[in-house]
Amino acid sequence: MRCILIGLPGSGKGTQAASLAAKFGIAHISTGDMMRAAIERGTEIGLLARKAMESGGLVSDDIVIGLVRDRIREPDCQDGFVMDGFPRTLEQAVALRKAHIRIDYAIELEVSERDVMDRMSGRRVHPASGRVYHVKFNPPRLPDADDVTGEPLVQRSDDREDVVKERISAYNSRTLPIISYYVDWERSGDPEAPRFVKVNGQGSAAGVRERLAAVVSEVKV
Ligand code: AMP
Repeated sequence: MRCILIGLPGSGKGTQAASLAAKFGIAHISTGDMMRAAIERGTEIGLLARKAMESGGLVSDDIVIGLVRDRIREPDCQDGFVMDGFPRTLEQAVALRKAHIRIDYAIELEVSERDVMDRMSGRRVHPASGRVYHVKFNPPRLPDADDVTGEPLVQRSDDREDVVKERISAYNSRTLPIISYYVDWERSGDPEAPRFVKVNGQGSAAGVRERLAAVVSEVKV
């Protein structure tokens, strides 16, 4: 089972990718998490990633493609993977196709821009554990404190409203074209083409999970 999730920042790709990975026992490849890990380690890639993330822009294709190429060679990807946040540009989608890495499903999670603004501006994280809260939809027991440790919650710097607007605009200009790329590829009748499906990403995470499970229940072989 190999699939990619496409959707606006804040559409729930990360949450749903983690569920799919657990359900199928496959790897979860999040390029966003890979960037954050590089920033944490203070590597050269991390420095470039920090710059891109702080402005709401994208990290360069060469870097991301190289990282993903290495990542999918790792043993935990043997039985499959779910990619969240990659491909994010036409160049990345073309690189994936050229590498002949067969993908079963390209799934677009559909949510409105208004919804992602609400979701992201209210998101708070506990940096040490990665636990995620939302001031309105999933509040911690005490304001701004982690339920388990009581430590302070923070807002990811790229979840600030001005940065979110930039990220949405980067999605519309750089990522949206990959939707028609996958639609056209499937229409061409190429047996290597992933099946392209749209899933309604509005509402609760559990509801979205059910709709996704219905789509991928019958995996192409
Ligand atoms: P995410 O957590 O997926 O929203 O990613 C956070 C940030 O990492 C993005 O806003 C980009 O700056 C960078 N990033 C993640 N994935 C990619 C990608 N496939 N191509 C370019 N930049 C990426």
